Amino acid sequence: MNRQLTFTVFVYTCIFAGVAGLVYSLSQMSNVVAHWKFLLFTIFTLTVASKMSVKIPRIDVVLTFSDAMIFLAFLIFGGPEAIVVSAVEVIITCFVLKRQGHPFSKLAIPFNIASVVVATSASFLCLTAIFGNVQNSLSANDTTGLIAVLGILAVSQFIISATLASAFQSLKDNSDFLTTWKKSGFTASVTQITGASVTGIAYKVINYGDYFSTSVAVLVLIVAYFSFRKIMSDMTTSIEEAETAQREKAAIEKLRAEQAELHAGELGVALAEQQRISEQLRETNDALEYAAYYDSLTKLPNRAYLIERLSLLFELGIDISNKYFVLFIDLKRFKNINNRLGHAIGDKVLALVAKRLLRVVKLEDTVARLGGDEFAIILNDLKSKEDAVRYARKIHQKLVQPFSLNGHKVFLGVNIGISPFDPEHQKPEDILRDADIAMHHSKERETEFAVFDKELRSKILETIKLESHLRFALEKNELSMHYQPLVSLEDGSIIGFEALLRWYHPTLGFVSPAQFIPIAEDSGLIIPITEWILKETTTQISKWQQVAPKYSQLMVSVNISGKHIAQDGLVESVREALEISRIDPSTLKLEITESTAMEDAERTVEILTDLKGLGAQLSIDDFGTGYSSLSHLHRLPFDTLKIDRSFVYKVGENGEHGEILQTILSLAKNLRMKVIAEGIETEAQLRLLRNLGCDFGQGYLMSKPLPKDEMEKMLYKKTLWFPQTFVDEEFGVNESDYPLQRLDSEVSQ
Ligand code: C2E
Ligand code: MG
Ligand code: MG
Repeated sequence: MNRQLTFTVFVYTCIFAGVAGLVYSLSQMSNVVAHWKFLLFTIFTLTVASKMSVKIPRIDVVLTFSDAMIFLAFLIFGGPEAIVVSAVEVIITCFVLKRQGHPFSKLAIPFNIASVVVATSASFLCLTAIFGNVQNSLSANDTTGLIAVLGILAVSQFIISATLASAFQSLKDNSDFLTTWKKSGFTASVTQITGASVTGIAYKVINYGDYFSTSVAVLVLIVAYFSFRKIMSDMTTSIEEAETAQREKAAIEKLRAEQAELHAGELGVALAEQQRISEQLRETNDALEYAAYYDSLTKLPNRAYLIERLSLLFELGIDISNKYFVLFIDLKRFKNINNRLGHAIGDKVLALVAKRLLRVVKLEDTVARLGGDEFAIILNDLKSKEDAVRYARKIHQKLVQPFSLNGHKVFLGVNIGISPFDPEHQKPEDILRDADIAMHHSKERETEFAVFDKELRSKILETIKLESHLRFALEKNELSMHYQPLVSLEDGSIIGFEALLRWYHPTLGFVSPAQFIPIAEDSGLIIPITEWILKETTTQISKWQQVAPKYSQLMVSVNISGKHIAQDGLVESVREALEISRIDPSTLKLEITESTAMEDAERTVEILTDLKGLGAQLSIDDFGTGYSSLSHLHRLPFDTLKIDRSFVYKVGENGEHGEILQTILSLAKNLRMKVIAEGIETEAQLRLLRNLGCDFGQGYLMSKPLPKDEMEKMLYKKTLWFPQTFVDEEFGVNESDYPLQRLDSEVSQ
């Protein structure tokens, strides 16, 4: 038999049994139904007791008093009445519930009614089997009997109703009967036991008392019921509150846990970010440290690194004086490479220089770029100064090898200063300064290298002192111009002057141009000084040009420093001087030394062309000392060429050693330049130069450079600037017969 069929058979059997029980009960109680007590009891059961219920918290059991009323009906009226009461009570309850919307499955209501009737009937049968007629056998004082009766009632009622309900449920749900029984059995047992207890108390009260005490007892029971209900309700509330609180707490805990988790997540992200930032910081620090100690172009250590390395050697305090040397390397005319070929090529040259330097030195040596075109090397562990010199030579050889870059062959000049460690050195900068001094010395002497010695230091200190004085020389009127006549070698007449700067310092006395001009050039002071000279000399020559008509074309020759050529503004200064003095521009001549002109021929051509554009004349100074490239010379717009006095000086008493002069003169002629010979001190020199066809001359033989007042006096009284003896010898007549004498009268006093 399958379950469904079993279920149906079971339900219908139960219903049938119930109907049978009910019919039988009704047939047995015809006399009682009319009794008012039973009617009252039934109405009370249906209206009051069936609605009384107490929910016991926690165990989810609802105690109803219907069972108590059924048990009470058993004791007061008998089994059939109890069966009817139970049936009526269940019928009413089911219909009320149904009306309230409780879902009852098909057959559930008839089964419920039937099962209660069956259970009550079974209990009745049990009681009758054991006690016979309960009403007769149970006396009012027989508590033990009462308990036994109620016990049997409760147990039988419980077993049967629980069994029927469990069977119905398990067959319907296809669930396990025993599990269902255990579940519903507990609830049923509590209901039955409570019902039995209440019945016992009620029965006792009813049997003992009169109507008054019964009423009081009923009242007490009602109060007790409501108190109990209240307590249970409070308990339920507080349990619910506690549960709500617990739930809320759990929710809060959960939320907190979630938040904690979220926070932990965020913390993780923050930590990762922190780590990323620290990593970045570390990288930035590394980059900063690199930038602080390395040169980005050559990748060599920089000055700061070199200083730290030197500091370390100083701190070591070991006897390092013979073992360590510092080399200061300067690239000559590096600026020209930048100007002519562009900075990109310049940068490449510097990077290649760094590579070449690294190839020469030992691994433990330090090669640093100090900035611009300056490098320094710390040579370690050398045996003597000669070793350092050997290194300097090797470095020089390496660096002067041409660099091939983008189809250009780039040649570098190099000056190297060598300084050994010295106990007098207090700090790293001291040794670096000494190497720098030696380098400058090598530059001045135009040697490959120079080794520092104490004399050099005092020289440099002297230079520093002079420079500080020179800064104020202009404003203190310590500078003045001397003028040296430029004489026509053809007839001894004056054609103009070379303006030569003089510095007379109140305490230092007269300082030679050879001493202060290089200082002025290195410090940049030469520029404002030259601007002043241009104005001063053009104004002066303008005055002298007005002394006499024969002087109207007297010219002044101003020396222009190579440093000034390299700067912008020279052309502007010349233009300004010409404007102020209003002289014929061709009476201003600018002298530029040969070495300057050759240094950056491209730029020189540009500037000289601009100067020529102003109408000024140009002269190449100290010719013969600057290794001129003839092709460059050809392109430079010079009007005159000034032979350096060293060539004139060589000419002996009998005119010997004049070959070079001759060569220079024929070169100048080919270049269509006039020639001036400077430094003519002897008549022999003058004679030779005249014979060689030199155009003009300048020298102590004619006149030393003189201050403007003295020169002015000479201008008034002198016509012929050759010495008398020379005139006598050369022209063979008295001075009064010279063709030039006539001119004297033209000079207005
Ligand atoms: P420099 O331009 O070659 O000037 C000629 C130098 O030769 C002058 O020396 C002059 O006094 C000297 N001198 C002339 N005749 C003779 C002579 O017969 N014998 C000897 N031994 N020397 C003679 P100074 O005035 O001492 O000037 C030296 C150099 O200083 C000049 O050589 C020039 O290069 C520079 N200098 C002088 N004044 C100025 C100036 O105003 N500006 C610039 N930039 N340089 C100047
Ligand atoms: Mg000169
Ligand atoms: Mg000269």
